[in-house]
Amino acid sequence: MLELRPNCECCDNDLPPSSSRAMICSFECTFCDDCATSVLKGNCPNCGGGLVRRPSRDAKLLAKFPASTKRVLKPQGCASA
Ligand SMILES: [Zn+2]
Ligand SMILES: [Zn+2]
Repeated sequence: MLELRPNCECCDNDLPPSSSRAMICSFECTFCDDCATSVLKGNCPNCGGGLVRRPSRDAKLLAKFPASTKRVLKPQGCASA
């Protein structure tokens, strides 16, 4: 099951589970589409894998399978990646 992390690892923008702006790699490193396309050029800075749009989870499924609330953030941001 996807964790559906709550924020962008680069800029810490909120990415709620219903967001259509979240991009993830196969390890679920999570980024907003701004960072994913501009700074990261479509590749995850942690593992080098491609970033794809994260599917959203329906509200009734979220009640049963809640999204992660643990924020993951790169301390130095992604500009230097
Ligand atoms: Zn971002
Ligand atoms: Zn990754």
